[in-house]
Amino acid sequence: MDSATLAAASEALRGPVIGPQDPAYDGARTVYNAMIDKRPGAIVRCADAVDVVDAVRFARDHGLDLAVRGGGHSGPGLGLVDGGMTVDLAPMRWVRVAPAARIAQVGGGSLLGDLDHAAGGFGLGTPAGIVSTTGVGGLTLGGGHGYLTRRYGLTIDNLLGADVVLADGSLVSASEVSHPELFWALRGGGGNFGVVTSFTFHLHPVGTVGLALTLWPLERLHDVLRWYREFLPQAPDDVYGFFAVLTVPPAPPFPEKIHGRKMCGVVWCRTGDQDRIEDGVRDVLAAADEPGRPAFGFGAPMPYTAVQSMFDELLPPGLQWYWRGDFFDEIPDAALDVHRTYAEALPTPLSTMHLYPVDGAAHRLGRGDTAWSYRDARWSGVFAGIDPDPANAGAVRQWCVDYWQEMHPYSMGGAYVNFMGAGEGEERVRATYRDHYDRLARVKRTYDPENVFHVNQNIRPA
Ligand code: FAD
Repeated sequence: MDSATLAAASEALRGPVIGPQDPAYDGARTVYNAMIDKRPGAIVRCADAVDVVDAVRFARDHGLDLAVRGGGHSGPGLGLVDGGMTVDLAPMRWVRVAPAARIAQVGGGSLLGDLDHAAGGFGLGTPAGIVSTTGVGGLTLGGGHGYLTRRYGLTIDNLLGADVVLADGSLVSASEVSHPELFWALRGGGGNFGVVTSFTFHLHPVGTVGLALTLWPLERLHDVLRWYREFLPQAPDDVYGFFAVLTVPPAPPFPEKIHGRKMCGVVWCRTGDQDRIEDGVRDVLAAADEPGRPAFGFGAPMPYTAVQSMFDELLPPGLQWYWRGDFFDEIPDAALDVHRTYAEALPTPLSTMHLYPVDGAAHRLGRGDTAWSYRDARWSGVFAGIDPDPANAGAVRQWCVDYWQEMHPYSMGGAYVNFMGAGEGEERVRATYRDHYDRLARVKRTYDPENVFHVNQNIRPA
């Protein structure tokens, strides 16, 4: 961006416009994933919807590539664009809860921790991801899954409405009754349709949940996965457990003798009747003896908000991340050796693979009710190579790609859009949306015919 355009942007926009010469520039272009090193021409910090309107119009009028940054957690760094303009929603972190109506309105730049804190104060919550520094914006628009998903569905299943700044700079409210096609597309279609300045969510009573961790040595991985793939799908909706391969962190609650060991395990979350949470934890721990007594088992009732942030310290901003994903409806015997091989080859202590359940309540919506097209998937898998040291970037990337490639034949063909990596290509985006792609492309033609919002896993206008 030339200096005259940058000066014009500073003049035209109310929020601070941060350019490459600004001392705040390097901080402003830093996102969660330290592998991302993009240099926008300008970063506009938007305080409200009017700032967003002005920024979108300015970018259009000057033919600038436009990126939208919510929480900045996108693996491929889709909140930034080289040379163009980033609309940074960080100042729009606010949450307004109506406890009696069980509704939360959430600013477009809010983080999950903002929502969990505000709703949690009233014993309420809604399904969202497992690290509290993740943005509500990107997570919701891609679908959103977490500890409450088997009980209350995906994040989008609890979205009641959204205020959206469209490509032409107009602001609309989308819901079941207002711009229903746009509302359908927002629920899973990613950031393709506009800038969401506020989300409205339905909340549920959550309060205390039962957290449990069970870990086994890798020699037991085949037995554990054979048991897990049968146990979880038939378990009641208030039993949630994601499977992981991991290196045991050198910290409590893990005993020293397993610190640094490569293991497999399940992170459990029991919800439901507050009087039965302790029993629920006991039941899960007892069930987990089935594939062989875990080397480590722990369980306790905890505030939901504490569970939501328990991985924050392990995964601070500034690590190198490379990830890929795929949906799975089964874990066939043939895949077990692949999991064991790559678990043994975990390249760094933080690298991991998770299988997140997306069944239970998430299966009770119709396939066409939202843009999320994998209502038949049981697990959303992510292969994540992670390390603080940039020197290990190549190794974590290679492990992730190799593992993903070997597991892909056992997948359903497409990935959760929020677990797609950089430049996976249009065919992969189509595989994510399957037969919803054409409908999404028609909505895109209506609301963003010139593809102004293209810095995302892009859906081209029909
Ligand atoms: P950003 O990088 O800011 O944005 C990502 C995309 O969303 C961009 O295309 C951006 O333009 C768009 N976007 C963001 N906000 C808006 C908005 N208000 N309006 C329009 N477009 C917007 N996902 C899960 O579902 N469950 C999990 O448990 C989970 N755990 C995670 C843990 C970690 C540590 C990380 C890094 C990610 C996790 N994710 C999880 C994936 C997460 O959903 C995506 O990374 C998501 O894109 C993050 O959104 P963001 O707003 O922070 O990202």
